[in-house]
Amino acid sequence: MIEFQHVFKSYGRGRNILADINFRIEPGEFVFVSGPSGAGKSTLLKLIGGLEPSSRGAVHVNGHRLDKMSARARPYLRRAVGIILQDTHLLYDRSAMNNVLLPLTVAGQERRQAQTRARAAMEKVGLSGKEDLNPIEMSGGEQQRLAIARAIVNRPAILVVDEPTANLDQDSARRIMEVFRDFNRVGVTTLIASHDRALMASYATRTLRIDHQGRFFDTPGVQL
Ligand code: ADP
Ligand code: ADP
Repeated sequence: MIEFQHVFKSYGRGRNILADINFRIEPGEFVFVSGPSGAGKSTLLKLIGGLEPSSRGAVHVNGHRLDKMSARARPYLRRAVGIILQDTHLLYDRSAMNNVLLPLTVAGQERRQAQTRARAAMEKVGLSGKEDLNPIEMSGGEQQRLAIARAIVNRPAILVVDEPTANLDQDSARRIMEVFRDFNRVGVTTLIASHDRALMASYATRTLRIDHQGRFFDTPGVQL
């Protein structure tokens, strides 16, 4: 479902951030991406989401080879992969609800059906009753959950998340992780980048690690 074959990535003429990366992730897996800051975790996630092209090698997602993908096929990828980056890119000129509605509106979904779905997504992340708030009025944890609601409202098969717990206290971090576990339980393939070793240790799941020298390790964990 997600496969990297001899993938290299550099930005412009810079050094290789990723060098000869190979791995395969099956549908329904729950995988951490770990490594020190600057190691290339976000870059790896962006390649999966099609936000950055590889410099060399093949990236397959859901049977599509991204580097050979036509512009017309890109909206398909956008629906297949929900991405939550560190900067949540929430829009502060509209309500929480309207932030979640946006991907559905872009996809041309009928208004009433879109609202039902958006409400369900907000409920799933524990934000029922906060639909009309402006995101600016929400706590860090709530904003993070709002970004999750927006990423899952299209029911992507794959969820890709960058440092979801970075600015959260332990309780909020745990709640966020439980939200991801819940999605994973209903079959959503989930990749989470984090440099929080304690957090990852407590989940003991498969971990793709990039070290400070750019070496790549694929460690199986205890399946949950
Ligand atoms: P991590 O997520 O592990 O902190 P990143 O993937 O964000 O690592 O970054 C890896 C390296 O690539 C860093 O040295 C970073 O400065 C560089 N980098 C990331 N994005 C860009 C970009 N758009 N242009 C140039 N260099 C970048
Ligand atoms: P439905 O038949 O209602 O479309 P599915 O069989 O697709 O439901 O999924 C079963 C349950 O898991 C539903 O509650 C659905 O909302 C949820 N679900 C499935 N895939 C996703 C996803 N990618 N993101 C969030 N929730 C999902």
